[in-house]
Amino acid sequence: MNPSKIVCVGRNYVAHIKELNNETPQSPVLFIKPPSSLSDLNSGIDWNRSLGECHHECELVLKINKTLKKETDLEKCLASIGEVSLGLDLTLRDLQSKLKEKGLPWERAKAFDGACLIAEWVRVSEFGNLDQVEFSLEVNGELKQKGDTSLMIYKMAELLSDISMCFTLEKGDIVMTGTPSGVGALKSGDALVMSLKSDKKMYQWKSFVKEL
Ligand code: ZN
Repeated sequence: MNPSKIVCVGRNYVAHIKELNNETPQSPVLFIKPPSSLSDLNSGIDWNRSLGECHHECELVLKINKTLKKETDLEKCLASIGEVSLGLDLTLRDLQSKLKEKGLPWERAKAFDGACLIAEWVRVSEFGNLDQVEFSLEVNGELKQKGDTSLMIYKMAELLSDISMCFTLEKGDIVMTGTPSGVGALKSGDALVMSLKSDKKMYQWKSFVKEL
């Protein structure tokens, strides 16, 4: 089932805010990717190379299985999560920087076709505490991003409650919870491995950057 939308959180890890010289937000920074941005990890990563650098942002992602609308009960927010996985919030960084400078929306840099890759879904029951989940991204065998949701500025339940004040989360919708530090430019032929640790096992998923 296609989601009605993919809600993304920006600037949710202090170290990533510092690496891009951004300000720490007073409330979560939210933006949306359309379902048409979804692409399969196995079909590889691609973008319009004439637009400059494309950065990887590896993030913990949630799939919603119950409608959440203006919900302040944090238990209900947590209970709306059906599945968990990792995703790549691909970002055309050069273009995004230009758009940010001019105060323009980021969609051309973050919502393009193929800008959202999601790995296989894992049942939420495999995770004890979603605010203590470790994940990582390796590129060509080198550790680039190491995430730990205990370092998120806005915790899982808080985040969903805040999102639901603005956007009704519908069954099937996806939430990308923000990237830890270590974002960087992808190159043709790069091999990516994303790892996610549940209480039961370590999941690993691979992808690659298409050759020109
Ligand atoms: Zn992101």
